[in-house]
Amino acid sequence: MPNSQSEMELQSQQDFVDQVREIMAVRAAHQPPLAHVWTYGCQQNVADSQKIKGMLQEMGFDFTDSPDEADFILFNTCAVREHAEDRVFGNVGALKHVKTRRPSVIIALCGCMMQQPQVADRIRKSFPYVSMVFGTHVIHRFPELLFEALTGGKRVFELPDRQGEIVEGLPVMRESDFKAWLPIMYGCDNFCSYCIVPYVRGRERSRSSDAVVNEAKELVKAGYKDITLLGQNVNSYGKGLPEQVNFADLLERINQIPGDFRIRFMTSHPKDATHELIDTMSRCDKVARHLHLPFQSGNDQILKAMNRHYTRQQYLDLVSYVKEKIPDICLTSDIIVGFPGETYEQFLDTLDLVRQVEFSSLYTFIYSPRGGTPAAKLPDPVPHEEKAGWLNELLKVQEGIAAKRSAGMVGSTVRVLCEEMGKNGEMCGRTSGNIIVGFPGKSEMIGRFAQVHITSSLNWILKGELVELED
Ligand code: SF4
Repeated sequence: MPNSQSEMELQSQQDFVDQVREIMAVRAAHQPPLAHVWTYGCQQNVADSQKIKGMLQEMGFDFTDSPDEADFILFNTCAVREHAEDRVFGNVGALKHVKTRRPSVIIALCGCMMQQPQVADRIRKSFPYVSMVFGTHVIHRFPELLFEALTGGKRVFELPDRQGEIVEGLPVMRESDFKAWLPIMYGCDNFCSYCIVPYVRGRERSRSSDAVVNEAKELVKAGYKDITLLGQNVNSYGKGLPEQVNFADLLERINQIPGDFRIRFMTSHPKDATHELIDTMSRCDKVARHLHLPFQSGNDQILKAMNRHYTRQQYLDLVSYVKEKIPDICLTSDIIVGFPGETYEQFLDTLDLVRQVEFSSLYTFIYSPRGGTPAAKLPDPVPHEEKAGWLNELLKVQEGIAAKRSAGMVGSTVRVLCEEMGKNGEMCGRTSGNIIVGFPGKSEMIGRFAQVHITSSLNWILKGELVELED
């Protein structure tokens, strides 16, 4: 149930929703008016865009993939990588001709990039045809801001304090009818030395457990089969809430919801991943057998410089515990190669850790400096080409591990959620451990669970034959 503050906020926005609908019914080039919403970055941003699209739908909008025909264009931006920011500036620059051809179009920017004052200033000065700029903390006031942009005769810049409140009950437009993102908390308190997120998304704020569980119940009732709980560090869920609840408790409550569905979560900081959490995962049958546990580096000095607050040994001990309690777990991780000052010998510790743990897959990145973070000020003498060589070495090792793991699954039968038809006309699905499985199938199967016999493997992808399509 929305709390009373949320209800008041939603009510105050409802007037703006109605007024924008009326204005657009007269002003738009199309009926219904068309919106183009483009999302950069992480799943949290995708979840934010789904809320914004839900509000646009309430204001009478339909959606288009083409900015050229849209009445309203919104870029939801990401601040994590500097080159991604440059891409955003380039893409915003390309909208100038759209505005020149159709001056009535409203161009808006939101998301993490806009939380940085220097970015907002640059937009103000260099992109005068952008009518609306707002930060991540005022998404719930989007109808009001759009109303101002349409009627106020001046540009709207709404970039308030960095904390933000949680407003429950906003409409959500989900792209899939069987996979859903479910944010459980916002912000991050960890200040890893290379990361901008805590500066732009603010301090950790958790949704109440009732709000999360009720949304999960609604999703299950609507037929969703794969629900991913989202937070920058889900393991610190519950801190600061008036109720006594932690992430393990929340998983347990969601697991108790009747229905046939999977629960996933991301991201899990190793320093806060407790034995209680692992024990809970092991006994909750709906929690997927997948744990994304980013270790970033296998060297203690680099981990310290990254401000990660765990050691290599602590990480390995945690992994041993996970494997003991959940033998069929699929572990994945993020790795940064070439952190400032990292030597080849230190990189070899990362390689060694990868060999020891045998991850099912890895998300690997060459370090790129992010202005505004402590790491960006560190000396970084190793040339990019050399780091690229280290990365290739890492990828080769991981390829061998993934191939061996996949080959070990040939001959088994796995439960797969059918997700989409691949380009080759095969059905593509995922196991509980998040491994991709391709097999002959039809689009009518999408959104249903199937038993698939694995007949061969190709690196990290499994191939199989349908044994049975479940109800
Ligand atoms: S845990 Fe570290 S890497 Fe993740 S969002 Fe927070 S500061 Fe960034």
